Amino acid sequence: MAKVLIIGAGGVGSVVAHKCAAVPEVFTEIMLASRTKSKCDKIAEAVGGNRIQTAQLDADNVDETISLIQQFKPDLVINVALPYQDLAIMDACLATKTHYMDTANYEPKDEAKFEYKWQWAYHDRFKEAGIMALLGCGFDPGVTSIYTAYAAKHHFDEIYYLDIVDCNAGDHGKAFATNFNPEINIREITQKGKYWENGKWVEIDPMSIHKPIAYPNIGERESYLLYHEELESLVKNFPTIKRARFWMTFGQKYIQVLNVLQEVGMTSIEPIQYGGIEIVPLQFLKAVLPEPASLAEGYTGETSIGCQIRGIKDGKEKTYYIWNNCDHAKAFEEVGAQAVSYTTGVPAMLGAKMILTGKWLGKGVFNVEEFDPDPFMAEIGKYGLPWNEQINQKLPVEQYKCNLI
Ligand code: NDP
Repeated sequence: MAKVLIIGAGGVGSVVAHKCAAVPEVFTEIMLASRTKSKCDKIAEAVGGNRIQTAQLDADNVDETISLIQQFKPDLVINVALPYQDLAIMDACLATKTHYMDTANYEPKDEAKFEYKWQWAYHDRFKEAGIMALLGCGFDPGVTSIYTAYAAKHHFDEIYYLDIVDCNAGDHGKAFATNFNPEINIREITQKGKYWENGKWVEIDPMSIHKPIAYPNIGERESYLLYHEELESLVKNFPTIKRARFWMTFGQKYIQVLNVLQEVGMTSIEPIQYGGIEIVPLQFLKAVLPEPASLAEGYTGETSIGCQIRGIKDGKEKTYYIWNNCDHAKAFEEVGAQAVSYTTGVPAMLGAKMILTGKWLGKGVFNVEEFDPDPFMAEIGKYGLPWNEQINQKLPVEQYKCNLI
């Protein structure tokens, strides 16, 4: 029925490839292209059955991507390379009138700042070309935004308080590693935090606000307030929200190591001279850290990600908590991936299915919460990420006060 081009053969790309290959009634032809072709070939071999074609591609080069699209003629490009490539791939999609989707918003290489403004600026051009771009269809952003849209549609007249909670209680046995691309992950954590309150952003020092939050089937974990990209689109698309925050858990050891790396300058993105060549310390650090995909084997424990919401329904206060727990070992057993790659790759496949089956279709650039959440919610469990909900019970995020606010 449809052809897809997946760009990026990392932890997430591997899950998207496995999951698309398992839905042949929608994804009839699949091509996986990435900077290092041998990684694509390895994934294609693991999927088997000659389901996946592979190609070498530097997606920073728009002309290269255009010629691959012209040759393969996909209906949709799924970008699971890095956020740096978003605009170049969107340009190639525009030039070839091909639908686009991704799981992380654009970030310039030389500035650790992610914002939707660069990608939203493509709206009119995508609209005129008669194609769509679906932004942020992983878990967070992605499922968390769809959970919010589902809550708004079925449980609230107005949402006032939104807390997105992201816990990884897994153990990969490594001294220090990140669960998705180390460079992107460390840039996200070491920049200033931010949350939305009463119509404006409140900026905080990195990791300065934290408290214990209890997660289902896991228990209490220290959780840190970070800025996360879905907050930007959610407060725009649900303007009744008075406060929106994002919390992520980190272990003490992880924070200690990160502090040391920061203090010695290893997380800097300012280029330095070393041995007569220019290197970026954070890029060098990425090169010595384990690749996210390599953490999968032997990873134990669960992730738990969800939305805790307080608002009004029929004139009465209401609380709603919706979440998914995902087991690292089960994800490995199914597709050879750890849960962070799995929880990103499954929604990316399902978002692609929503577009290709016409359930989510528009002309222009959209965030996932702008579409009807129901067809997505009806199927996400079947593909491996079932959800749970609690109505009108005390929200775990409201159990303890923060250290600062
Ligand atoms: P990895 O580092 O494992 O994989 C990234 C892949 O992209 C690598 O195979 C890399 O190639 C490839 N790549 C990098 N630059 C280029 C380029 N110029 N041209 C072609 N290919 C390129 O990262 P992850 O798989 O963990 O993450 C992938 C994306 O998913 C990231 O954007 C990340 O931010 C996002 N993500 C989103 C989440 C969500 O919930 N929304 C959660 C987790 C991740 P090479 O192997 O040669 O380096």
